[in-house]
Amino acid sequence: MAKPDTELRLKAFRKVWTAKPVDCLQCMRCTSGCTSFKLLELKPHEIVDLVKFGFLNELLASDIVWTCATCLKCKERCPQRASPYDLIMAIRNVAVEREAKVPEFYLKAVGQILETGLVQNPQKVTTREMETLDRDGLGLPRIPLPTDRFKELFMKALGGG
Ligand code: SF4
Ligand code: SF4
Repeated sequence: MAKPDTELRLKAFRKVWTAKPVDCLQCMRCTSGCTSFKLLELKPHEIVDLVKFGFLNELLASDIVWTCATCLKCKERCPQRASPYDLIMAIRNVAVEREAKVPEFYLKAVGQILETGLVQNPQKVTTREMETLDRDGLGLPRIPLPTDRFKELFMKALGGG
């Protein structure tokens, strides 16, 4: 049976000094608005509970924390400032420090954002006349490529700068 890791718990808590996971009420307001709800094997309120009681190794060994879309909705909704988002970011940082394997899909998304500034390439649309148009065809302006400043701030936000 898994055992709590109090040292790791303390380490994660130190990284989230603005959040208070111990105050979590398990009200599930975070989970009810989570953008990645269908993709996460564990829901935000369950992640908070695992961190609260020191079961971080289970989270570090899984892809769960890398699936979060970092939309911050859970942080906004939380009545207790327990903020699953901040905990997830802390666990990601611990995972990188421990050189845990970062999932391929996450690295790919980071690479795409650094290259284009977008998570996904702009999609084409089909008109009522069944004509397929891209942004140029729609008369929309070109999307500017990310600046060095953007890349610097983005990496800082990810905890790598
Ligand atoms: S983290 Fe906040 S919103 Fe989520 S269950 Fe705990 S108290 Fe509720
Ligand atoms: S920040 Fe992550 S965990 Fe929180 S609501 Fe968004 S996707 Fe869900």
